[in-house]
Amino acid sequence: MTATGLRISDLVERFLVERARAAAPREACGLLLGERARVADVVELANVARGLDRFDLDPAGFVRAALDARVRGLDVVGVWHSHPNGSLAPSAADLAGARRGERAWSHVIVALDQAGSSPGSTRAELASYRLVGPRLVRQPITRIPASAVENVR
Ligand SMILES: [Zn+2]
Repeated sequence: MTATGLRISDLVERFLVERARAAAPREACGLLLGERARVADVVELANVARGLDRFDLDPAGFVRAALDARVRGLDVVGVWHSHPNGSLAPSAADLAGARRGERAWSHVIVALDQAGSSPGSTRAELASYRLVGPRLVRQPITRIPASAVENVR
């Protein structure tokens, strides 16, 4: 199976980078909501992990966000989190987390470089991965116009 692309708007990308910066040096995390590989909305959830180099989605927040999405006709299509250390590669903990989730989900990493964690910097990069067999394989990200996005919060 080849990894298909994830479609994401500039608006969503800006939101993710902004939240990643706000959370640094901790990792920000949340859900990608949409239809198949189109991201229509994103939500941020509390990171309940203890360490700085990992994330655990707040379980109650996850349930609330998934139910709210369903009411709006959207599905959870993936998980996003940030890497304040600038690495675009998934960690061993990320892989373990991905294996606990739905196989079809996309896993977006927002990498801030060292300069990117200071306010005003625009240096950040996004990568998306999907599970293919036992591994996370990078998938292309296609930018779509923000008008195709219902809302971002
Ligand atoms: Zn990670």
